[in-house]
Amino acid sequence: NASTLSQHRVRFTPDLDTLHTRENLELLGELTAALLTNQLALHYQPKINLADGRITGVEALMRWNHPERGFIPPGKFIPRAEQSTLIDRLTAWALDTALAQLVAWRRDGLELTVAVNVSTHNLMQPNFVDSVVNLLKKHDLPGQHLELEVTEGAFMMDLDHSIDKLKRLADHGIQLSIDDFGTGYSSLRYLNDLPVSIIKIDQSFIRTLSPTGPTAHIVNASVTLAHQLGKKVVAEGVEDADVYRYLRDIECDMAQGYFMQRPASADDLSRWYRSEQGVFRLDP
Ligand code: C2E
Ligand code: MG
Ligand code: MG
Ligand code: MG
Repeated sequence: NASTLSQHRVRFTPDLDTLHTRENLELLGELTAALLTNQLALHYQPKINLADGRITGVEALMRWNHPERGFIPPGKFIPRAEQSTLIDRLTAWALDTALAQLVAWRRDGLELTVAVNVSTHNLMQPNFVDSVVNLLKKHDLPGQHLELEVTEGAFMMDLDHSIDKLKRLADHGIQLSIDDFGTGYSSLRYLNDLPVSIIKIDQSFIRTLSPTGPTAHIVNASVTLAHQLGKKVVAEGVEDADVYRYLRDIECDMAQGYFMQRPASADDLSRWYRSEQGVFRLDP
């Protein structure tokens, strides 16, 4: 009957919550340990300038090599870390590691910039801008070599505050991009107000792109709109040559995707860059 049911519910719900919390806490504990014992790594995926094929930058993507569970993709642990202050330590680690790698690459003649993904929680930290600027100083790099990728949702939490922070980062020459563009909220309303210089069209529009299909209109319009606002466009999730050619034809600025190169370790990325001589060629 009803009272038994509700009793059950009262007993059962907290148990589920506890389980969920314990599992979360365990994961966060392991992740904290992972940070301290070098289980985390960054892989790098190149961004290609479509007009001439030059490999101009890389995006740093976090990987967790768990001693028992093996490789855990970021989708499995970043969202959980984002619910705690651990995300600030992860981002600080990613920035430090990516900038150190960039210094090594540039010393070796690889003219790249590096992009690091930043979470809402990071932007909300009062000392975020200072910590990024301090890391650039530590590695003796100008802001222009660093790009921060922020998802649309991140701005919406507190738009005025976000704009202020992003402006301060942009004042240091840091490039800012909207990641996963088109999947978030009503982007058009604030697109003009945000001091971002790059828009990354979400891979859900690009992976299945066909010149005659419905998403082609969305991609075309996004490229035109971005250009009219003085911003550059990156297409994420380019998986074949036809999409690559199409994007180049509509004058999309950059492309990133498995077709050119999957995210790879720093060493593999350097080897690939050298073998391509810094330029991705469609028909080698
Ligand atoms: P994102 O920033 O949008 O990164 C692009 C994701 O798409 C990466 O997945 C990449 O491996 C994948 N990808 C690239 N090209 C293709 C393609 O042609 N086809 C397909 N199917 N996928 C492609 P990954 O590495 O699993 O990262 C997933 C998400 O996790 C990232 O999405 C980003 O939101 C988050 N993430 C990764 N590293 C970090 C980090 O260091 N900090 C933060 N805050 N988030 C991170
Ligand atoms: Mg990204
Ligand atoms: Mg994305
Ligand atoms: Mg994403």
